[in-house]
Amino acid sequence: MQIINPATEEIITELPEDSQESIQEKLASLRKGQKEWAKKPVEERLEVIIQFGELVKANKEELAFVLTSETGKPIAQSRNEVNGSLNRIEHLKTNALKWLATETVATGDVTESIAYEPLGVIANISAWNFPYNVGYNVFLYAIVAGNAVLYKPSEFATLTGMNFKELLHQAGVPENVFDVAIGTGQVGQYLLDADLDGYFFTGSYKTGVHIAKSVAHKLVPVQLELGGKDPLYVMDDIADIKQAAINAAEGAFYNNGQSCCAVERIYVQDKIYDEFVKHFVEEVKSYPMGDPTEDATFTGPLTRAQQVEVILEQLNDSIQKGAKILLGGDQPEGPGYYLNPTVVVDTNHEMELMKEESFGPVIGIQKVNTDAEALELMQDTPYGLTAAIYSTDEARAKALLDEMNVGTVYWNCCDRVSPNTPWSGRKNSGLGSTLSSQGIRAFTQPKSYQMRG
Ligand code: NAD
Repeated sequence: MQIINPATEEIITELPEDSQESIQEKLASLRKGQKEWAKKPVEERLEVIIQFGELVKANKEELAFVLTSETGKPIAQSRNEVNGSLNRIEHLKTNALKWLATETVATGDVTESIAYEPLGVIANISAWNFPYNVGYNVFLYAIVAGNAVLYKPSEFATLTGMNFKELLHQAGVPENVFDVAIGTGQVGQYLLDADLDGYFFTGSYKTGVHIAKSVAHKLVPVQLELGGKDPLYVMDDIADIKQAAINAAEGAFYNNGQSCCAVERIYVQDKIYDEFVKHFVEEVKSYPMGDPTEDATFTGPLTRAQQVEVILEQLNDSIQKGAKILLGGDQPEGPGYYLNPTVVVDTNHEMELMKEESFGPVIGIQKVNTDAEALELMQDTPYGLTAAIYSTDEARAKALLDEMNVGTVYWNCCDRVSPNTPWSGRKNSGLGSTLSSQGIRAFTQPKSYQMRG
């Protein structure tokens, strides 16, 4: 398998992919290791993960560089991710003991309690866009809960996945408790065919549905963290239109729009529409684009060449249906999977751009007249990950957010994930939750003890 630098299109390295046989060997070893690991107290398992966090801090610069080289993420954003994702370890430090402890729920003649046992050996099939965040959401929590993990990094973030393995082992996670499956979707398929006790997936709707169908007969837990088409609505009472435009632009273009909860479409009330669009375009124009290894770069290349084509097709469809491109819409000269940051107006819901995930540096902005119209449009999507509203009136915003059929709602913020609250999608955005108390318990199965004596 070739690892390509998306900024230069050069081959970074070539790696052998796992075979069905090597996956079976890894799983046999993990099966043994998990039994011993589960016997260790939670405190000991947690300590090892805390140690892993220290190693990540010590190697921050090198880890960020590897992430940038294989995904094209601008280096400042890679550093943010390597650092920021450590908040998962803080969350575990504060909460794991509480949520994994056995609970006594009734005493008397019969003492009744609930123990939270690990699932066993689980598969973590992951994505490339935020490999630290979405990887940690699964494998760190799973390890602390007493599971062994076979982690399949995306083929676009393989070197980062190999770094996880090295540092986890250095920190004291036994080699037969965490291992990595190297390869493309075919190697993911081997995991689906194998005997595992849970499947935790981050990626596209299409692959997520395929996984759920393929493993349904095993009756093991399946969690799916999938894509989104997340709306942001700016109400006409907003005090600082410019600031709202700056925040919305960052929500749309951070990581080149390749975030599951990126702002993917914007609705603005007619009274403030022109001013909002003016500030929005000015802001996006100011983003330095270029070599992702340079500190100042805000937009680099896309990670996958193929996505450039998907977005160009969406733009073509929009133009044919009456949209206007205010900025971008084309590719700069030179190598790399670059697309100029693109702002589209005069959009409507006949256009793919407003309905299907773009996952890149492009945004459609649509004018609306009333809150009711905005609500209807925000809900007009097969996805249900997040929704954001900018307004000075909390009650007015919350009335709409309460109606939204999504896992996370934001008032005067967007495109953020907190380890304290569940991260979950509805409709085509997924099934189950990571993070929060729910994301700790997700890697356990309850056992009921009813003890007379
Ligand atoms: P993808 O579905 O193409 O790939 C994800 C993983 O699945 C990769 O490791 C891939 O090798 C593997 N895979 C592919 N085919 C498989 C098969 N047949 N069997 C088993 N495994 C297989 O998705 P991607 O391009 O890596 O990720 C982008 C998507 O992920 C976007 O839709 C994005 O919104 C979503 N995402 C969601 C979240 C979230 O938390 N909800 C977070 C990050 C990304």
